Amino acid sequence: MKVSIVGGSIGGLTAACLLRDAGHQVSVYERSAIRLEQRGAGIGFLPASYRYLQTRAAIDIDKISVKTEHIRYLDKESKLVYDAKHQYRFSSWNTVYASTLDHFGTTEYHLDSEVVDFSQSSENVSISLKNGQSITADLLVGADGIGSLLRDRLVPTSKSAYAGYVAWRGMVPESKLSSELIERLGDAITYFVYPGSHILVYPIPDHEGRVTPGDRLINFVWYCNYPSGKEFNFLMTDKNGLLREVSIPPGFVSEQNVEHVKSMALNCLPKLLSDLVVATIEPFVQVIYDVDIDQMAFGRICLIGDAGIVARPHAAAGTAKAAADGWALAEALEKHEALDDALDAWQFSQLAVAKNLLERTRRVGSKSQFLNTWDSRDPEVIFGLHQPGN
Ligand SMILES: Cc1cc2nc3c(=O)[nH]c(=O)nc-3n(C[C@H](O)[C@H](O)[C@H](O)COP(=O)(O)OP(=O)(O)OC[C@H]3O[C@@H](n4cnc5c(N)ncnc54)[C@H](O)[C@@H]3O)c2cc1C
Repeated sequence: MKVSIVGGSIGGLTAACLLRDAGHQVSVYERSAIRLEQRGAGIGFLPASYRYLQTRAAIDIDKISVKTEHIRYLDKESKLVYDAKHQYRFSSWNTVYASTLDHFGTTEYHLDSEVVDFSQSSENVSISLKNGQSITADLLVGADGIGSLLRDRLVPTSKSAYAGYVAWRGMVPESKLSSELIERLGDAITYFVYPGSHILVYPIPDHEGRVTPGDRLINFVWYCNYPSGKEFNFLMTDKNGLLREVSIPPGFVSEQNVEHVKSMALNCLPKLLSDLVVATIEPFVQVIYDVDIDQMAFGRICLIGDAGIVARPHAAAGTAKAAADGWALAEALEKHEALDDALDAWQFSQLAVAKNLLERTRRVGSKSQFLNTWDSRDPEVIFGLHQPGN
């Protein structure tokens, strides 16, 4: 089949590699004019997120991710109050994107190719690009993320529901941090939970993808509640006065809000963690949304990753879900002769995965942000795509 994929981030690229491996003729259309860059934000790196790179691209995942051995919790005085042996892997968005793009290659990866329209018939599906070009294919895969144009058009009733909080994020090179901080935070995911909030900290590869201790970055994700309206709008107005909806990238948060997050850190966090936030040069913000839909396959079109259902990040499973959608799609196309049958089977399994994740991450988020019932021993707070730990 000829396959067009809209969106060349981790979800689109993984599906592109898998469908090409299965013998399809695949092209990816990415809106950004330059290779994507999320300035190295950390990601929990679950098995589904690295399955392709490990099993098909022969990449040694130890070279692109950092393994941690403990889950730790601190109290307000930076004292260790919980320590459990548990292995996780962490990587950075850039490292995973670059590894996947290197494997796919750039011949059929089209930058500066924003899709502005699409249509389908019983015979084929067409996309129109902003530059006036039009491309016809047998299958269209929407991997265009949280603000998906395809979802908006195919499910006009779908809405992004603000969860009531955002993630303040940042990372600092180990070389800029104290030896005490690195020693205490470098081999673990470390939490501090207090009423209405939680922060988690873990090591990740640096901007060049280096994973050796000393070269890495220490990354934080701090969930903070902002009521919608004035307070939220003030936070989300960037340094150029632009009101943003989904995120403010590094370097674009207003000076006042950079000061605000640092003084909030000094007031609310244990010193070990406030030192990290204060040392962050360009903290940035991602808003937490839920997007729920009941259909992900529409004739010759399917929606994968965040273009379908968006779950909160508390299971560290966003890229894993996007990748799993790609694996399931390749398998369904292999198994079923008719495209309709393949997409029906694919939708049945992947809607269930996404809805389960959405419900679980809603519960976990509520425990820390609103109910104050987060418990370090609660199995549900363990990362995982299908269930905690898996
Ligand atoms: C605070 C926070 C923490 C997170 N932590 C983790 C974690 O630890 N682990 C994890 O796995 N995930 C995590 N995630 C989630 C993860 O980042 C996303 O789920 C994942 O990036 C989704 O991938 P995607 O390919 O579906 O979409 P995206 O990465 O959003 O990519 C969509 C792509 O489509 C392109 N595009 C959009 N519209 C068009 C168009 N019209 N034409 C052409 N191209 C278009 C965009 O430019 C973009 O490149 C986190 C998210 C947040 C907010």
